[in-house]
Amino acid sequence: MSTSFLNAMGIQTWELRKPTCAQPWEELQKTVSRCTACSLHKTRTQTVFGVGNPQAKLMVIGEAPGFYEDQKGEPFVGRAGQLLDAMLAAIGLDRKTIYIANILKCRPPNNRDPLPEEVAQCTPFLIQQISFIQPKLLLAVGRIAGQYLLGSALSLGKMRNTIHHYENTPLIVTYHPAYLLRNPRDKDKAFLDLQLAYRTLHSLL
Ligand code: SF4
Repeated sequence: MSTSFLNAMGIQTWELRKPTCAQPWEELQKTVSRCTACSLHKTRTQTVFGVGNPQAKLMVIGEAPGFYEDQKGEPFVGRAGQLLDAMLAAIGLDRKTIYIANILKCRPPNNRDPLPEEVAQCTPFLIQQISFIQPKLLLAVGRIAGQYLLGSALSLGKMRNTIHHYENTPLIVTYHPAYLLRNPRDKDKAFLDLQLAYRTLHSLL
C-alpha cells in the first residue's frame, strides 16, 4: 500500500490486518455477521456481506452500506442500486451473475467516509472474498474503493478509464452510482469505463 494513500487518510503507520486463515465461504459469512471488530457494529442494523455468484468472473466493489443496504442486508439497493443494475445491463450483465461487495460490511453513520481504522479492521473480509471468488476482473465503483484497491491517493478522474491491477487481477475504476445520480453528466464517462470492463472481461474469458 503506498504511503501517499496512507498520508491522504491521515495514517502515520499502517499494519494491515491480514486474514489469519482462509475460512470457507459460509463460515466467513457467519464471522462477518457476528463481527464487533470496529465501532460500526454498534450502529448497524445488520452486516452487509455481499450478493451474487461466488463463482463470478466479475466482482464489483463499492465503499460501504448506505441506509437501504443496512436495512435490507444487501449491497447497492435503492436508487443507486437501480442505477448500478442499469449500468451492468448496458454491458449484458446482472447482479445474479456477478458478485457485489463493499470495503466495509457495516454502515457508517450518516453515510460518512470510512475511517482508516474501520478500513483496516474490515478489509481482511474483502480480501478473503476476493481470494475465494478469484474473479477475472475487479470493478471498483467510487473513489474510496478505487483508492483502497490501488493503494493510491489519486482522484477518481485519474484512476478511471485505465486497466490497473490488484495483485494479479485486472482492475477498472469508475464512478459510484450514487455520485452519478447527483452528477448525471458523468454517466457518459461511466459508460466508457463499463465498455472497457466489457472488452477486458471478454478478452480474459
Ligand atoms: S465494519 Fe467490518 S470490522 Fe467493523 S464491525 Fe462491521 S464487519 Fe466488523
